[in-house]
Order: sequence, then structure tokens, then C-alpha cells
Amino acid sequence: MKPILKSTKLANVCYDIRGPVMERAKQMEEEGQRIIKLNIGNLAPFGFEAPEEVQQDVILNLPNSSGYSDSKGMFAARKAIMHYCQSKKIMGVGLDDIYIGNGASELIVMAMQGLLNTGDEVLVPAPDYPLWTAAVTLAGGTPRHYICDEANEWNPDMDDMRSKITPNTRAIVVINPNNPTGALYSDEILQQIIQLAREHQLIVFADEIYDKVLYDGATHTSMASLADDVLFVTMNGLSKNYRACGYRAGWMVVSGQKKHAQDYINGLTILASMRLCSNVPGQFAIQTALGGYQSINDLVAPNGRLCKQRDLAYKLLTEIPGVTCVKPKAALYLFPRLDPEIYPIENDQQFILELLEAEKVLVVQGSGFNWKSPDHFRVVFLPNADDLTDAIGRIARFLEHYRKT
Ligand code: PLP
Repeated sequence: MKPILKSTKLANVCYDIRGPVMERAKQMEEEGQRIIKLNIGNLAPFGFEAPEEVQQDVILNLPNSSGYSDSKGMFAARKAIMHYCQSKKIMGVGLDDIYIGNGASELIVMAMQGLLNTGDEVLVPAPDYPLWTAAVTLAGGTPRHYICDEANEWNPDMDDMRSKITPNTRAIVVINPNNPTGALYSDEILQQIIQLAREHQLIVFADEIYDKVLYDGATHTSMASLADDVLFVTMNGLSKNYRACGYRAGWMVVSGQKKHAQDYINGLTILASMRLCSNVPGQFAIQTALGGYQSINDLVAPNGRLCKQRDLAYKLLTEIPGVTCVKPKAALYLFPRLDPEIYPIENDQQFILELLEAEKVLVVQGSGFNWKSPDHFRVVFLPNADDLTDAIGRIARFLEHYRKT
């Protein structure tokens, strides 16, 4: 029989967060082994549940959820998103500028499918949340990675970003707060990026899905609030701020210089119509979540569970010889560096596979985030303090052994 091959469109598409090492971890679990998972930013399994009132709203409205909604999303949910945009000072957003999707993920793929032709380039951060690179590639575009500089708190290297712009560049992706680095950009940095977009007529895709997961009293500026002469597409959703990953409730807001973008906007509307609508029970959660008590603030406060776990994981990791890390200001991740002089890693996927086999701890290799040198890995600090202490102790033990061999 002729082998059934995947489409060539998928030839260079990868998403290693759920890649082969995770498959191996699943297999080990099926064999009865207990794996400590520091690999995915999925909050509920670690006791971070969606707020009670949000859950209740979905339950109450389930009987009203059998039909399709408007392709762009339910009126009440979009109205709540519109008010959220106003609270973040994103100007001129009407109901028609808002698209609700099955998580931001669906909208990221849609936004790239609607924009790119073969040969078009998109500036994507390195390290990145790899869905962006994958979505650009799947849409026939070419991701061009701009470096975020670890020595400068993982801020984008503006010279590098500028140097990667070509006549084919269509857009800049900005992930702020950042996954995997935990960086939070200042208004000055955001303005510099906007200036580049302005000069080269690029769209800014602002992924702001962690905009409420902020530590140490930090505040977040929505990029689209800083200018009205650039086209912004802002992504957000309930997954992280409201611990509702499984509801698949995300949104995308088009704002700024919309006049010259009508054709692209029509394309987005066609794509939204083609998939009929996003998950309706999840849409019912949006209004209550955005308008309700913002319990995330309790979790990120100095005594809150997320903040304490960040501090603990940071402390334990940076106590390991040869491990350094920029302390995250936001989000759910640490992206530590392993000194290559001490840890001779050639293939970081192999490295984390060996860590999994030896110590039953699952992390994601830096190359899974399009980080080129094999000297980083990502740690999710969602497990409780005991599990984090146990897991990082095992990582330390593994590294001790790794350094000697
Ligand atoms: N953007 C970033 C930066 C993320 O980290 C994630 C999920 O981890 C997403 C988007 C996707 O979120 P959603 O659950 O809304 O699809």
C-alpha cells in the first residue's frame, strides 16, 4: 500500500511543547510511573481552578448553548471585551472589531492564514511561544526570528529586529508578557517597536494573554493603546488570567489604522464564518470573568500562591551551580540558562529526554521555543511548593551527574 503522507504544508511546522518527549512521558505514566510535570501552562490540574462564579455561569447557561452563535461571537461577550479594551485604553474598538475564538490559538492560526502569501515574512521573537512560528509557516510565510536579549532582561534587541526587516516583511509579533521568558516590556520598548512598524508599514500582532499575571506590583500596557496610526491585532483570552484553559475562550481585537486594512479584515471575517463560531459555553464565561472579582490578583500578590511559587522555583534553580535565570516579572514560566562550559549539551531534546528517564521530571527544551543554542529549558512553576522543591532537587541531581559525564 502507498504510505499516507502528511501535507507538505506541515513539513516545517513543529510544536514541541506537546512533542515526542511528552509522548514518552505519557507512556511512562501508563506504565505506572509518577512524572512531575513542569511542561505545560495548564493551570487547573495544579489546583488553580476557574473562579466559581465563572464556572456557575457556564453551568447555568448550558441549556442556552445548543445553537451556533454569531461567527464573531456572542453580543454580550463581545460587549464585555469592548469594555475591557476601553479599560486598557485601546481606542476606537467596536463590536465588529472583536473576534471570539476557540482560544487565542485558533485566532493566531486564522490571523496568519488570512494574511500571508508564500514568501511573506513575519518577525517573531526568539525565544517565542512556538505556535506563532508554526502558524506563520503553516500559512506559507517565513518566520524571521528577532533576538530577545537575556543580558537585558529578555527585552527585544531592537537593532536585531530592525536588521531582520526586508521588503517582504508584513508584521511583527510581540508576546508581552512573554512566554517563555516572563519578560514584561516597558512603554519605551513598545514605542520603539511601534515606530519600526510605522516606518515599514507592518501590522503589530500583540499577544497579551498573560496581561493580568503580573508580579511585584507591575502594570501592563496594551500596545494598541500607544498609537492609532498602525494596525494592531491584539490577542487575549480566559485561559491564563482566569485559569480557564479548557473553556477555549479567546479573542482577537483589530484596532488602530484599520482604513487601509479592509481587505485583510474581510479575510478574517470569511475565516471566522467558515468555522461557524467558537465554543458557545466558553463564550458564556467571558462577561462574568471580565466583569467579576479579579481573583488572579490574589494569586500574584506577594503572599499569593503563584508569586510564592515563582520565588521558590527561581531561588532553587539559581542555587544550582552553572544555572542562571532572569527573574520573571509576569506569566507562569522560568527560562533558565545552563552554562555550556559546565554542561556540555549538544541536543537539548535529548537532554530533557534523559532528564525525564532518569528523574521523572518533564520540562521543555529551549529549542522548542525556537531558541537556537542548546543551553536553555523552560520550567512551569504551577506545581505546589513540595512538588517544585522535589522536581528542582531532581533536576539539580541530574545536572550534577550530567556535568561529570
Ligand atoms: N499565546 C501565548 C503566549 C500562550 O502562552 C498561549 C498558551 O499557552 C496561547 C497564546 C494560547 O492560549 P489559548 O488557550 O487562548 O489558546
